[in-house]
Parts: sequence; structure tokens; C-alpha cells
Amino acid sequence: MSVESSVLGFPRIGANREIKKAVEAYWGGKSDAEAVIQAGKETRNKNWQYMKNAGITHVPSGDFTFYDHVLDHIQFLGATPERYSRHNLTDLDTFFAMGRGRQVGAVDEAAMEMKKWFDSNYHYIVPELSENTKFQYRTKKIVDEYKEAKNAGVETRPVLLGPISFLLLGKAARDASPGFEPISLLDKLVPVYEEILKDLKAAGAQSVQIDEPILVLDKAAPLAAQFKSAYAKLGPAGPAVTLASYYGRLDSNLEYVKDLPVAAIHADLDREPAQLDAILNAIKDKKTAVSLGVVSGRNIWKTDLEDAQRFVKKATDALGADRVMVASSSTLLHTPVDLNNEKKLKPEIKDWFSFARQKVNEIALLGRASNAQVSSEDKQALEENKASIKRRRDFETQSNDTVRNRVANITPEMLKRKNPFPVRREAQRVKINLPKFPTTTIGSFPQTQEIRIARQRFTKGEITEQEYDDFIAKEIQQVVKVQEEMDLDLLVHGEPERNDMVQYFGEQLEGVAFTTMGWVQSYGSRYVRPPIIVSDVSRPSPMTVRWSKYSQEVSSKPMKGMLTGPVTILAWSFPRADVSKEIQSKQIALALRDEVVDLEKAGIKAIQVDEPAIREGMPLRQGDWAPYLQWAVDSFRLSTSGVEDGTQTHSHFCYSDFNDIFSSIKALDADVISIEASKSDMKLLKAFQDNDYSNEIGPGVWDIHSPRVPPLEEMKQRITDMLKLIPADKLIINPDCGLKTRHWAETKASLLNLVAAAKWARENY
Ligand code: GLN
Ligand code: ZN
Repeated sequence: MSVESSVLGFPRIGANREIKKAVEAYWGGKSDAEAVIQAGKETRNKNWQYMKNAGITHVPSGDFTFYDHVLDHIQFLGATPERYSRHNLTDLDTFFAMGRGRQVGAVDEAAMEMKKWFDSNYHYIVPELSENTKFQYRTKKIVDEYKEAKNAGVETRPVLLGPISFLLLGKAARDASPGFEPISLLDKLVPVYEEILKDLKAAGAQSVQIDEPILVLDKAAPLAAQFKSAYAKLGPAGPAVTLASYYGRLDSNLEYVKDLPVAAIHADLDREPAQLDAILNAIKDKKTAVSLGVVSGRNIWKTDLEDAQRFVKKATDALGADRVMVASSSTLLHTPVDLNNEKKLKPEIKDWFSFARQKVNEIALLGRASNAQVSSEDKQALEENKASIKRRRDFETQSNDTVRNRVANITPEMLKRKNPFPVRREAQRVKINLPKFPTTTIGSFPQTQEIRIARQRFTKGEITEQEYDDFIAKEIQQVVKVQEEMDLDLLVHGEPERNDMVQYFGEQLEGVAFTTMGWVQSYGSRYVRPPIIVSDVSRPSPMTVRWSKYSQEVSSKPMKGMLTGPVTILAWSFPRADVSKEIQSKQIALALRDEVVDLEKAGIKAIQVDEPAIREGMPLRQGDWAPYLQWAVDSFRLSTSGVEDGTQTHSHFCYSDFNDIFSSIKALDADVISIEASKSDMKLLKAFQDNDYSNEIGPGVWDIHSPRVPPLEEMKQRITDMLKLIPADKLIINPDCGLKTRHWAETKASLLNLVAAAKWARENY
């Protein structure tokens, strides 16, 4: 027997975004369901053949989806909410209706809720559950795809999201009784899984992968009894079970996981290498095998195979080769498909990376190397890996000393404004002189078709830089004029020059690389191309000063400069693996600090540093929050503390759910924060009151996520309510978020009401 290799899941978007193209054509009425189904078959088949040819022992099936794999489970487990199933649509249309809503003919249903998947940038559809949920083995997706692969000559290991994770990722449906807990449905759900497993066994499947990623969360700790009872049934029901946890560490959950009657336990050794010892110890006297997640499913760095082999050796020494598998740390869905599609990356940089297909080859090679079955070609590949890793390590040592020294020499003074808020506030009153209840916006104005076309034409070289710049200047003039006509108080330039709030900065920073085809699924058919932090980050020259200065020149009203914060730039990029996130965040913060100071020098009196990602960047385990929040807050303060008292710093968060991080939000010490509030109740503002928040706050009075124009009376009411909890001299009037996805008509109408409401408040409070 020997070490086997396995891949936990593969990107389902196609190497050339085939699935996006297929589903969007179908949604747009340009093709039929048959074309979508066909595209799915082709993409699955390519993925399977690729993995088989690479020599992977356990090739995954069933992980493919046209939208989201949790949504697949909702459907095939029979948990489709009644409001979608009652229309007698085809399964495919019901599926898309749940994922993205449907407004066709008599059917008008909003999409189901979408949520962030663990600490990744992927989003899943949230199962809606209640006492009335009747699970059933509704569609045969999993066994059908197993058979499809088999017919194509590939023996696969089907993948299921485990019942306990499925329930814990869900929420109480509208018809649930008060206090309902989704986990209470476990006994009803397990029999459906048993049926699926029996069906798979009957079809010939030898093994199955059941994912229970919630095992890396604190909230799995009290679920030992549930895991025991569920897996007592699922372990023996069908094919041999590999129980997979990923994105973090099992910690104390290992105490019950080790006794579950499963064939193998998979653990993420990319994120949490230190857990290997505990796992080996826990299972060494049993029969359970271990699956070593050594090839990262979360980043794009080439695997150090020598290093990975050390883990394999340790495991085979402890358990014997027949009880060890090498694997991706998690599904590879978070990585782009194929590095060979990148034609523009410099060869010396490209050499550092490994995308999903390259990772598959690494895993297969690692498997052969672990069994001493290396061909001469393999030998060469191992040598090449070693040489490449060495080149990368050599590069890492040639760091940018200026940047490193600057980070090493950050002093406590650099993290603090010169004076506390009450003093700054007086200086800002003199310098900016905003009225009571000042009105402002979050930064972007509608990104119209014209703007997108102009940018595309410029990128393609169809218009000159001069022509593009003239276009942007005109856009800014227009946005400024509109704000002046509306009588807003603190203006913005509207961000027409930005393609994306992270990419725009990444492209101007040294140490950041970009792909042309490095798409990663964010949700449904929305894919993103995250920047890659490859080395020490610095700012060769100012990034936003030109357009901010220009916009200030064309207006007599104060202009707010607009930046994306360090934590958010880092969170939405692929970070380096050789340096801590803290160091990377601080390097970006120093670059932004220079930008902030340059904006001040250029005459900008208010500067906003957006940090929408502070919350989602939180580590999975609560025990790890404190150090993260410390460097996140320090990074923000580092970037904003270089200015004089009279310069007003702002920050913005796209959420209002602050309860567990309130002290960190307070510690940012931004002069003004704007937050999402129009959807939430006033509980949030109570938290500001209870926590003695002293700086200025702009809780959104307009929900910009919908085209609806909030009537004036409604905004007045919101302001009245807010003033019950926030002192009148601290309240700023603004929308919930940036306006880039809105149209001009509702933007103008809503802003008119917003300004009128502020004027009304000035007279009445
Ligand atoms: N300044 C950005 C904008 O207005 C902020 C975006 C965000 O909050 N995500 O678009
Ligand atoms: Zn926002």
C-alpha cells in the first residue's frame, strides 16, 4: 500500500470563464438550458481528465456548480423554500431563482441571502430552515456526476458538504418558531445523507469526501454528541468516508473527531501546520488514516515540495504509508485555474506561482515522491521546484531595506494624532468650517456606461492618455457641479478614474503584481482578479493627489480625499506567505500615510480612508482576534496620523454590526466615521452611546443598495431617531455607502432629500 494523493475540490469556472459565459447567456435569454448543461459537462470533464492524467488518486466529483455548492445542497437535500418551488419551474430555473432572484412573467422573487464563506472572499447562499423543513433526496446530482465521470473513464471521490456544517451555515426561516436552532434538524437530515451514500456505493464509489469545515470554528466545540450520532450512521453507510476540515485548526474538536468511525481525517496543514503532531498522536493507535493538506488551496504560491515531504515523512513514520494521503489544504476554488494562461507576467515572477492546475501537479508529484516512484521526469520536476523555491527565497532576502527599516522604526508617536479629538475638532472647525449636521457622501458617484467605455477604450489604446484624462476631468467637474447645486457641504470627486477600490491602488504600488486571467469566483457568476503582493510594498509616487487637487481647484467648497485602507487592500489581495500579514499591512499603511500627508499638502482638508474589510478579515477563532485587531487598528492609525490637527480624517464601513469589535472601531480614532445604518434599527446607535463614543458619526440615512428614493419625511424621521442617541454636534448626514452602482436619477432625487433633511434638522435642533 502507498501514499495516495487527493484534491478536495477544483475551480468550477472553467479555464476561460466558460461557466460565467454560459450561465449569463442563459440568463440573458441568448441560449437555452441545454447549452448551460453542456458547458457544465465539458468543464467537469476537462477538470477530471486533467486531474486523472496528472496522476491524482482521489479526483473530486460533485463539487462542480453553476452558482454555489451550498445552493446545490439546498436543492438536492429538498430544502428549497416553498416560495421558489411553487412556481413549477425547471430544477435549473428554480436553482437560479434562489441564487439570484427571478422577475419573469408572474414570478417576482428576490434572491436568498448570501454570506461570506468562512474567512474567504467566496459567498454562499444561506439555507433557510425551520421545523417545517422536510428534507428528501430530491435530485441525484452527486451520484449523477459520479456516474458521468465514470463513463468518461475517471473514477472519482464524490464530495458532500457534511450535514452539521450545512445546518450551522443555515439560518432560521421566516416560518420558524422563536428560538429555533437549525441543528435541531440533524436527525431528519442524516437519513437523506445515508440514502445518498448508499446510492453512491451502489454506483461503485469506493470513497467519499464529507466536508465539515465548521470543525475549525469555536462553535463546533459543544457539538460532540451531534457529530458522534451523525457519523455513527454516515461512517458505515456507504463508501469509505474522508472527513475534511479546512481553513483552520481542529483544536479541542479533535478530542471527539478522533473517535468518529470514518476512514480518514483531513486537516489543513497550510494554515495550521502545528496541528499535525496532535492529530498523529490522537489516531496512531487506531485505523484512521490522515489526509495532509499541504498544498495551499488559499494562496497562489508554489509549494515548497521539500518542506511538504517532511510532513509526509513524519506522518508515514507514525502511521505507515497506507494510512497517509497528500492533498490540497482545502478545495482549490479560491485559486485561479491555470498559470499557463498568463502571458504578461514577467517570467521571473511567474516562476513563483502555482494556480489550480499547477497545484494538482504538485500534489500528484508529492504522492509519487512519497512512494519513491519517481520517474526521471519527476526527478527533474522536483529539482526544478527546489531551484525555483531557492530563487524565491533569494529574492525574499533582497528586501527593500528602506521599507523594512521604516516598518522596524515605527514609533508609538506615529500611531497617534498630535492631539486628542476635542482639540482637533476645534482646529477643524476653524479650518474646514462645516455647518451643523454637515452633509457628505461616501466617495463614488454613478459609474456610468460612458465611464466604463472610456476606460475600456483607453486600456485598448483606442484613445490617448490625454483624451482619457480630459474625459475624467470633465466627469469630475460634472460631479462637483451637481454637488454644489444640491448644496452638499463636504464634496467628493466621485472616483470616476477608479476601476476598483483595491486594484486602483495596487496598480500604483510597487511590490504588487496583476494577472490577466487570474479569475477567482466571488459569488455566482461574479469572479474577481485579486492583486498579488509579491514583495515589500512602497509608493513610487502619489496615487490620488492629482485628481483630488484638481477637484478642489474647481470648487470653493471643501473636498474630501478618498483612499482605500491598508487592511482592506491586504484582505482583497493574495498576500505573501514569507512575511506576516501584520508586516504587509504596515508597509501598505506607510505608503498610504505618505499619500495622506501629500493630500494635506495639496490643500485637501478632509481625507477618508475606507476600511470595509476590517470585519471580514477577523480570524476564524475568537482566541486569535486580539492580535489581529491590534495590527489592523495600528495600520489604520499609522496611515491617518501624519496630518495636522485641522485636517479631518474619515473612515467608512459598509456594515453596522459592531458589537464584538466596538472598542477597535473606537480605537481607530477617525475624526468622522460613516456606517451602514438605514437598514438596521437603532440598537446600533445605542451601542455608540453606551460605549461613550466621542468622535463624529454619520449613520447612513439612505439605503443605496436599492434604487428606491427615500422620501424627505422618512429621512427627517431617521434623523430625529438618531438624535435621541447621538448628540447634535456629532451627527453627520450621509448615505450608507458609495453610489457607484446607482443611476443618476435616483442619486439626484435622494441627495436632494438628504440635503433638505439636514437643513430641516439645523432649524429644529
Ligand atoms: N469610497 C468608496 C466608494 O464610495 C467606498 C466603497 C465601499 O464602501 N466599499 O465607492
Ligand atoms: Zn460602503
